[in-house]
Amino acid sequence: MESLDYAVRDKLSQPHVRQPFRPERFYSTDKPKQCPRCRSVLIAELLYGEPGRSSELIADLKAGRVVPAGKTKSADKPDPRWKCLDCQTLIYHKES
Ligand SMILES: [Zn+2]
Repeated sequence: MESLDYAVRDKLSQPHVRQPFRPERFYSTDKPKQCPRCRSVLIAELLYGEPGRSSELIADLKAGRVVPAGKTKSADKPDPRWKCLDCQTLIYHKES
């Protein structure tokens, strides 16, 4: 079993290269009908800033069509526009 030992030792001697964590970014020009990752149809629009109090908005919030997202972070870093309610994947708006 000498050859196997060599193979194992060879593996152990190689430093494990860790891939940098780079979350995949999804872009869409329009509100996606399906999640690009898990194919869920539960896509909600992210709502930034102070949510209003209109009954229409409250209905949207209750139905999961809209999710409050708090404040926008910065102008040079675009915020995601939609969110999959199943796998939490964020989808960014892309100009066509
Ligand atoms: Zn999803």
